[in-house]
Amino acid sequence: MSFAASVLTLYPEMFPGPLAHSLAGRALSEGLWTLETVHIRAFATDRHRTVDDTPAGGGAGMVLRADIVAAALDSVADGRPILAMTPRGRPLTQARVRTLAAGPGAVILCGRFEGFDERLFEARGVEEVSIGDYVLSGGETAALVLLDACIRLIPGVMGAASSGDEESFESGLLEYPHYTRPVTWEGRTIPEVLRSGDHAKIAAWRKAQAESDTRSRRPDLWERHEGARVQSPSGAQRRSKDEER
Ligand code: SAH
Repeated sequence: MSFAASVLTLYPEMFPGPLAHSLAGRALSEGLWTLETVHIRAFATDRHRTVDDTPAGGGAGMVLRADIVAAALDSVADGRPILAMTPRGRPLTQARVRTLAAGPGAVILCGRFEGFDERLFEARGVEEVSIGDYVLSGGETAALVLLDACIRLIPGVMGAASSGDEESFESGLLEYPHYTRPVTWEGRTIPEVLRSGDHAKIAAWRKAQAESDTRSRRPDLWERHEGARVQSPSGAQRRSKDEER
C-alpha cells in the first residue's frame, strides 16, 4: 500500500514541484507514494468560478468559502486524515510526520488569501497544521514541506538502512554535527575523535555534541528532553515523546 496524497489547491500546477526530484521524485515514479491534485476552483458554482468572499465582520482580504472547499473535499475524502495548512494550526512535529507517513496518506487543504471559513474544520473533521510561526502567502509551500517530511519516511524511500533514527528531533534532540573530507579545509580540521576509529568514543562525542547543541540552540527542546528524563521512574534516559495525536 502506498502513501496517497491528495492536495486541494487553487494552484495545482505547483505540484509535485520540488517533490518531482531526488528521493521523493524517484519514490513517486516508483509508486511508493501517489499524488493527486484537486482544483478547488472546479467546485465553484457561479459563472465567475468564485471560491472566496469578504470576511464576515469586515476587514481586509478574502476568505475561502466553506461550501466550495467542502465540495472539493467531499470529492476525495475516503477516511485518510484531512489536514489544512494554516498558521493557526498545531505546529507540525516529527512525531506527527512519522505517524502520518505510516498511514494511508493525507488529504491536504492549501489556503490562500485570509484562509478558510472556520466552520469547515469542525464540519469535516479537519486537523489544522502549521509549519511554523511565520506567515506564508499560501498553503502550497507548507503542503510541500509536510509531504516532503512524510515521504522520506515511507519504507523504501531512503536508500540506506538508516531510517532516520538518529536524525534531529527523533530522539528529542538536535542531531550532532557532520564533517567530511578534506580533513583540513581553510585551516579548519575535522575533530580528532571522528578520525580515531574508536566507535565508542565517537558515539559518546556525538551524544555530548547533540546534548550541548540542543541545550544552547534550542532550550525549549532541551527542557522537554530533560523533563522526560527526570519523569522516567528508572531515572534512565528515555525517548522524549512528542505529543502524538
Ligand atoms: N490570515 C491568516 C494567514 C493566511 S496566509 C492568519 O493570519 O492566520 C494564507 C494561507 O497560507 C493560509 O490559509 C495557509 O494555508 C497558508 N499558510 C500561511 N502560513 C502558514 C504556516 N505557518 N503554516 C501552514 N500554512 C500556512
